[in-house]
Amino acid sequence: MRPETLAIRTQTERTGEKEHSTPLFLTSSFVYDSAEDMAAAFADDSLDVNIYSRFSNPSVDEFIKKVCLLEGAEDGIATATGMAAVSACFMTFLASGDHIISASAVFGSTHTILTKYLPKWGITYSYFDMNKPESIEALIRPNTKMLYVETPSNPGLDIIDLDYVAALCKKHGILFVVDNCFATPAVQQPIKFGADLVLHSATKFIDGQGRVLGGVVVGKKDLIKQLYLFIRNTGPSLSPFNAWVLSKSLETLFVRMEKHAANAFYIANGLENHASLSWVKYPFLPSHPRYEVATRQMLNGGGILTFELKSGLEGGRKFLNSLKWLSMTNNLGDSRTIASHPASTTHSKLTEDERQSVGITPGLIRLSVGLEHPQDILEEILQALA
Ligand SMILES: *Cc1c(COP(=O)(O)O)cnc(C)c1O
Repeated sequence: MRPETLAIRTQTERTGEKEHSTPLFLTSSFVYDSAEDMAAAFADDSLDVNIYSRFSNPSVDEFIKKVCLLEGAEDGIATATGMAAVSACFMTFLASGDHIISASAVFGSTHTILTKYLPKWGITYSYFDMNKPESIEALIRPNTKMLYVETPSNPGLDIIDLDYVAALCKKHGILFVVDNCFATPAVQQPIKFGADLVLHSATKFIDGQGRVLGGVVVGKKDLIKQLYLFIRNTGPSLSPFNAWVLSKSLETLFVRMEKHAANAFYIANGLENHASLSWVKYPFLPSHPRYEVATRQMLNGGGILTFELKSGLEGGRKFLNSLKWLSMTNNLGDSRTIASHPASTTHSKLTEDERQSVGITPGLIRLSVGLEHPQDILEEILQALA
């Protein structure tokens, strides 16, 4: 079956009730038929039997299984949030004395873990510029264990050639981890290009309606086993309820991503060359500096675009205040179009130089294009620009 079908037709085996849609398994623990069965479950953590919902749960397993099928991965684990997925990857595979190379353009909290927490545990990091992939190799040291990227990056929409980075990691025996949150598996499957682990903030496009938080990591079985034991023992497990919501959301992921991308492309074209903007950035606009890479590794341009107001920081505030109905919030990947101005909000505590290094310019507006009628969205933006 094709991914569109698998996203809909993968579900937990029906119970005796013969329900059509998948039930929600709101249970903390599971029972056994005998003392021997219970002893066996605890004796062998590779046994495929549910014990306790911190370890596994049918609703969570269904969600993981779907993401694995969509990403072309052997196995996966789910977490309470996207950041739990990121930090579990770091804490499972990095030890004191290790070194990690990361793109400097990464999600704000990922940046905080890399710069504030990892050094505390004796793990060093090096940043590279997403637009200079040729600079990566010189950063590799004998103790480099992991290479980490987001492509497209949040919020700068920088794109890196997955083939190129995967080959480099393979050559040097480094674990290649990709945050695929902006693209989703409906748009890009990094494992096909050689990524070892792919993670998501499921909070964004996977949920798709801004209702629940969640995270997921997929990849090779032996790596996932290590992650599983870390999650099982440290506890950032995904709740069955959130997993049930997210699994349901995956049924519509493909149609939503097609529409998000079509709307975003329409808005990007409608805004390019606008007199108030210095530039518009969208992966599938030929003016994107990595247009060729984007069209090679992505099925469409995704649902996010950015533009730079000529009027800078003050202009960004004014733009947000001129919106009539478009949402002003920091989330993304929602059916509702969202505008954010990182320089005056999420990244306001950084210096101008720090902002520049993560791709945030003073007048940068990030637009998470929703599923409303594209003309309504464009008209709303044009009136705010006016
Ligand atoms: C939101 C986000 C995260 C963090 O996910 P949470 O679910 O908020 O913890 C990580 N990476 C990217 C690219 C994100 O956009």
